[in-house]
Amino acid sequence: MDTAKNLSLILTRMEKARANSPAAAKRVELIAVSKAQGEAAIVELLEAGHRTFGENKVQEAKTKWPALRERFPDVSLHLIGSLQSNKAAEALELFDVIETVDRPSLVDALAKTRNEGRGARCKTFYVQVNIGEEPQKGGVTPAELGDLLEYCRTPRSSPLAPLPIAGLMCVPPADKNPAPYFALLRKLATGHGIQQLSMGMSGDFETAIRLGATSVRVGTALFGERLY
Ligand SMILES: *Cc1c(COP(=O)(O)O)cnc(C)c1O
Repeated sequence: MDTAKNLSLILTRMEKARANSPAAAKRVELIAVSKAQGEAAIVELLEAGHRTFGENKVQEAKTKWPALRERFPDVSLHLIGSLQSNKAAEALELFDVIETVDRPSLVDALAKTRNEGRGARCKTFYVQVNIGEEPQKGGVTPAELGDLLEYCRTPRSSPLAPLPIAGLMCVPPADKNPAPYFALLRKLATGHGIQQLSMGMSGDFETAIRLGATSVRVGTALFGERLY
């Protein structure tokens, strides 16, 4: 696997999809999803100048990223997997962006920790939307989104310390055409005055970009198959 070469190919494909679409964002960020990937490939991307990465587990990120951050301090790390409330403080220390806010109890845990002056690294939060309303997936349903956003403005744990929500994130059903789901996420964001849209993975990032993604999360197309 030539990861640095994959990086430049994917950036080229992203820019082509963006430039040819009137609904595309002015700028689209690539989140390199490094979960279950070897360190050598991650370092190859860092040395090629890439700085934005995604991990789905707090524990795994904790074993990999503090050491890499000593060498590459300007890394931006996104949490893209579900977060247990008892790991909220750790996640706030480790990640720059948490994309998976999905329930009031987690909002409370995050807001409380922030209000205590801890977890200062993370300043950006997205709500995960279960856009296909699949029982096995995390995220709020489209119908529940308004209530959760309202809760983020005045969490019970710290009513004076809102959790600012900058974006929405989704993973559409695996076996369906993703386009209508991406379009729905965008419509929800517009309706709620939210700017950032994290949508699109290895198999569908160009479709997501055409429909307005501001970031795409790409793992296997960059790194190859994951090492489980
Ligand atoms: C693993 C993962 C990705 C990357 O998936 P690929 O198909 O390997 O690009 C993107 N988003 C989330 C939430 C993931 O868990």
